[in-house]
Amino acid sequence: MQPLIDNARTFGQRPEEFARLADGQSPQVLFITCSDSRVVPALITGARPGELFELRTAGNIVPAYSTEHPCGETATIEYAVEVLGVQDIVVCGHSHCGAIGALVRGDDLGTVPAVRDWLAHAADSPSAEDPADPTVAEAVQQHVLTQLLRLRSYPCVERRLADGRLRLRGWYYEVHTGGVREHRAATDAFESL
Ligand SMILES: [Zn+2]
Repeated sequence: MQPLIDNARTFGQRPEEFARLADGQSPQVLFITCSDSRVVPALITGARPGELFELRTAGNIVPAYSTEHPCGETATIEYAVEVLGVQDIVVCGHSHCGAIGALVRGDDLGTVPAVRDWLAHAADSPSAEDPADPTVAEAVQQHVLTQLLRLRSYPCVERRLADGRLRLRGWYYEVHTGGVREHRAATDAFESL
């Protein structure tokens, strides 16, 4: 922890870089990804402060839209789309994902019931032809597409997709190589960016 504290102590020594951020934010992208520490959206994309609106959840799960129960993830997505007017939403899964691995293997999550119940949100549990594959690439990519479908059911997303103000993108990030692939509709495959 200490190196992180040391960096935070000196971080604000470039006031000229941050002063403009007091005027507000207008990020063009909502980036939804896993909470995994190996995935660092700003590092991957080179985004500067103010450029990426982020939502991080265990397993980059997008919950089904509902206004019956308050849900931080749903609120974050709605705010990004309706208020900030982001033009793109990226759902980025990653290799070696612990959450997806647990789903694929059917791990007993009895000791972490909150995790178990959250992953139950994933529905349509992803499967893999080779459950022993440590990257769980196939399942992660399948899971990303499921989350994109979920997003389409959000009223604000549906409206903006319909009139061309919003695009959805599915990404797959390899934590062991740094490579990024994007789902291409033409081939229905994840291909290098
Ligand atoms: Zn993960």
